[in-house]
Amino acid sequence: MSEQVTRTFAIIKPDAVRAGNAGNIIQRINDHGFKIVAMKLIHMSRPVAEGFYAVHRERPFFGELVEFMTSGPSVVLGLEKANAQPAWRDLMGPTDATKAPKGTIRGDFGTSMGENATHGSDSPENALIELSYFFNATEFVA
Ligand code: GDP
Repeated sequence: MSEQVTRTFAIIKPDAVRAGNAGNIIQRINDHGFKIVAMKLIHMSRPVAEGFYAVHRERPFFGELVEFMTSGPSVVLGLEKANAQPAWRDLMGPTDATKAPKGTIRGDFGTSMGENATHGSDSPENALIELSYFFNATEFVA
């Protein structure tokens, strides 16, 4: 795999912000060599959460997912690193926090399948789409 520096999109979800873990997660982001190129604290509205997860609209957990993502503030971030998208997914661990190994972010800070502390884009293409869903061009640092 080439070592091209790329960007990915991350969310510190409402469960992690509520539990006071945003700082710990940002520390891990720094410790693992990601450069934060955009970051803000937002409280997602229902239309914003529904639009972001539109691909899951027909799934049985969609309602629960939107309730959760609108339940409190979250931190949205743009992360830069060599192969940022898979690197961030590796650091997060698998979707189900109860099965995520200790040492991964979801293993250490998530509590269930739904409340799993963080989001990370599932492909480089979706990373660009998701970054532009939450950030304007002027919100990225050089
Ligand atoms: P991800 O790419 O690892 O985040 O996983 P998915 O794209 O499959 O799912 C998106 C998000 O929906 C997950 O991160 C969870 O927060 C949530 N989710 C997935 N499956 C379930 C489920 O069975 N129940 C609930 N409540 N939420 C789920």
